[in-house]
Amino acid sequence: MALKIYNSLSRKKELFKPINAGRVLMYVCGPTVYGSTHIGHARTYIAFDIIRRYLEYRKYKVKFVMNITDIHDDIKPGTDTREITKLFLLDMQNLNIRPADVYPRVSDHITEIKKLVDLLLKKGFAYKKDGAVYFDVSKFKDYGQLSGIKLKQVKTGTRVETDKYERDEPIDFALWKTGRPGWHIECSAMIFKHLGEQIDIHAGGMDLKFPHHENEIAQSEAASGEKPFVKYWLHTGLLYINGQKMSKSLKNYIEVSDLLKRYDARVIRLFFASSHYRSQADFSEKGIKQAQAGLAKLDSFPEGHIDITSEMDDDFNTPKALAKIFKAKKWVPELESVFGLSRRHISVPKRVRELVQKREQARKNKNWAEADKLRAQIENLGFSIEDTKQKTKIKMS
Ligand code: AMP
Ligand code: ZN
Repeated sequence: MALKIYNSLSRKKELFKPINAGRVLMYVCGPTVYGSTHIGHARTYIAFDIIRRYLEYRKYKVKFVMNITDIHDDIKPGTDTREITKLFLLDMQNLNIRPADVYPRVSDHITEIKKLVDLLLKKGFAYKKDGAVYFDVSKFKDYGQLSGIKLKQVKTGTRVETDKYERDEPIDFALWKTGRPGWHIECSAMIFKHLGEQIDIHAGGMDLKFPHHENEIAQSEAASGEKPFVKYWLHTGLLYINGQKMSKSLKNYIEVSDLLKRYDARVIRLFFASSHYRSQADFSEKGIKQAQAGLAKLDSFPEGHIDITSEMDDDFNTPKALAKIFKAKKWVPELESVFGLSRRHISVPKRVRELVQKREQARKNKNWAEADKLRAQIENLGFSIEDTKQKTKIKMS
């Protein structure tokens, strides 16, 4: 069996073959630190945490880098980005998301970014205008390969200074604005520094495919002359709430810290793992309650083994893998190692344990009527029992 990954670049599932056998260089676009972490972030970062864990489960040595965008149009001057970053990392920890190997910040990489901008100017891919530097998309013939946007639509000399564009069109974008970098260049600079000029996996939410990731490819391949900059592009389906994308700008978000007050991180992880990472996720109280009930069921399963590699090898199909686990009624070690769910051992109340002991005695004495009566009492307390040769197993019903 071999791992296949859906590559947004080819729009196909492809056999996974990293640049260096056995090693994976992985980069995920991190948060813009101007507010609290919302569950749209949780959706994307839990998905890539499961993918990273599965790659490690498949014995790849993964180097995982996530940037922190602390310079951006959306960040108002005076914002305490260090404090917001600290809270973000705490939210990640509370969601049992494994930490990245490096969390580079834009503000610590100004020298690297400036060097890259200079190189693009020197190579003729960029030009200066009114104190800013723009990338000239018409010079990069492969522009549009990820998003499918056609370069021939480009009107030369049209440019945007803002980090996010209004329309999906090829347009010259700012590498450097007066006194600070544009948004897209940071990821190229950080990837070059921490991972190299060519990497295996670049990931982020679907909303970043255009223009952010398209621009990253253009800058990086223009600067290094190496192709492809990224072998596999992975994008998560966005999280919606009441039919709208959950985002800070729309102010319709639920904070991770608030949801964690009401639900265990395990419930949140199971909720997201129950749909495929590429499909749109819809948040609802009903859905999260279902995950809660599902988790109680998983906790009640006896430990055992079943193989979920064929499901996970098929573009990390977590819903199929979970369906197989539920069908087999076994607590498998992958729930912990891949899904990041630690097992909660149910504590059986003293009263239930006493009734079970009494029932075992009754069975020894072949007093079946008494044993049945005791079973009914146990079930009334919310537990069920299963008789095996060696002992009586108690489960939460
Ligand atoms: P931001 O903080 O908006 O820069 O986003 C950081 C990361 O979270 C990016 O990879 C986004 O694609 C992802 N993200 C933001 N909002 C959502 C959402 N509603 N659903 C899924 N991912 C999201
Ligand atoms: Zn990025």
